Amino acid sequence: MEPTTSSWTDSACPSWCARAHRLNDHPEDRRHQGPAQLVTLSIGSTPPTDTKDAMSVDIVIHADRPDGSAGEWLRIESTESTDVRLALTAPATRELIRALHIVLEQISR
Ligand SMILES: [Zn+2]
Repeated sequence: MEPTTSSWTDSACPSWCARAHRLNDHPEDRRHQGPAQLVTLSIGSTPPTDTKDAMSVDIVIHADRPDGSAGEWLRIESTESTDVRLALTAPATRELIRALHIVLEQISR
């Protein structure tokens, strides 16, 4: 889908924007969004009891930036429920990946 601009946009779409914009977009929809990355994850309740209790959840991950904002978000959301709802800044995402990598290494020894 070719990114477009309309009168409500304060600036041109970022290079990663894949969302079509319309003049009558609802104010909450006036945001730039990157292509979706779809993954299916096994998640558990908190605290989890046993890995056999994990449930499979379809997750969408995409870049997001409200129109007029200077910063990007990485949104991580379950597609058919509100089980997973997370919005991270790029620096927070890098820090989370770093910490996850450390913990994964600990349990992989
Ligand atoms: Zn855009």
